[in-house]
Amino acid sequence: MIITLKTCADDEQIATVMEAAERYEDIEPRQYRFEGSDGKFCEVHLIGNTSRVPEEPFELLPGVRRVIRVSSKYRVIGRHGQDDSEVGFQYNGLSFDESCVHVLAGLCAVDSHESVRAMMAELQKYGLQTTRMGAYKPRTSPYDFQGLGAECLPYVFEEAGAHDIKLVAMEVCDSSHIDEILQALETAGNPTGVMLQIGTRNTQNFELLKQVGQQGKLPVLFKRGMGITLEESLNACEYIASEGQPNIVFCLRGVKSHLGEPHRNLVDFAHVPVVRSQTRLPVVIDPSHSVGRFHTAPDGLPEVFHATGQGLISGASLVLVDFHPNPRHALCDGPQALTLDYLPRFLDYVKTVRSAYESLLK
Ligand code: PEP
Ligand code: MN
Repeated sequence: MIITLKTCADDEQIATVMEAAERYEDIEPRQYRFEGSDGKFCEVHLIGNTSRVPEEPFELLPGVRRVIRVSSKYRVIGRHGQDDSEVGFQYNGLSFDESCVHVLAGLCAVDSHESVRAMMAELQKYGLQTTRMGAYKPRTSPYDFQGLGAECLPYVFEEAGAHDIKLVAMEVCDSSHIDEILQALETAGNPTGVMLQIGTRNTQNFELLKQVGQQGKLPVLFKRGMGITLEESLNACEYIASEGQPNIVFCLRGVKSHLGEPHRNLVDFAHVPVVRSQTRLPVVIDPSHSVGRFHTAPDGLPEVFHATGQGLISGASLVLVDFHPNPRHALCDGPQALTLDYLPRFLDYVKTVRSAYESLLK
């Protein structure tokens, strides 16, 4: 059972709901705080067998907006009849919800200070405040470049601040990476924000998911597992939310199947509306890791553009996309990166498809 409080509910009203819930034997009430487009609000989740807990006493308490019975599945991330105002969150001055599109364009892997500076300068030129920068890279082969790790964080954050970037999506593979990021942000004087990325190889690394949930500070970009069902990925994502961080965006990045060839993965953006109806998480698409190559179609548009269009026309509200100033010298995933001269065309393309999508909703 979920008791949603009004945005104006105060701490005393929340405490009254908690006390009322504690009166039921074997019920553990837990509070979750959200920040939606209408403002901050709190939910009290009743964990345990609630079949004998009546709704009415809670509905009558001051400050309560709604009481909903939920199955235990996707308890926090699920959309249990909640409306669009309860989708998404605010972070570092940006709104991550379904009302607009954010493009997180950047380096798959940080390979030099110069690449970071060139990338960020280009983003600033076109007014982008969100990027991706991989410092910790989980690679298939132990002999491949593993990322520069903590050593690159000071200049990544410093350049982000200098170029008015408000959010850097960065993958973490171990809880020590979270600590290193938080420490480096603080040392740099918090010039930017970070969204912790869980990569497809760690989708079911439950201990890492719990730690990402418990840090509670930085929002999370969670990628679906490449070889498991969508339901398994959503359950894994719920670990992060249930441990205390509900500010998550859910990323589709293609699934592993030879049926997708010549693409790296089989593009799964038909799942955008499925994730949107089952959860209240904004949906991210990653056309770069889905398509996995730079190849231009006969119409002159790179296949990465076409895949992006498929996700956006289905209602995705974030795009994670690889760019590199010199893809031939990139140390990771160079073959799928777009060159910087494609950035304005890509942004125009995103704008056009998004407005087509919005016009279809009228
Ligand atoms: C990435 O985004 O850099 C990445 C490794 O992606 P994925 O986890 O989807 O393979
Ligand atoms: Mn990559």
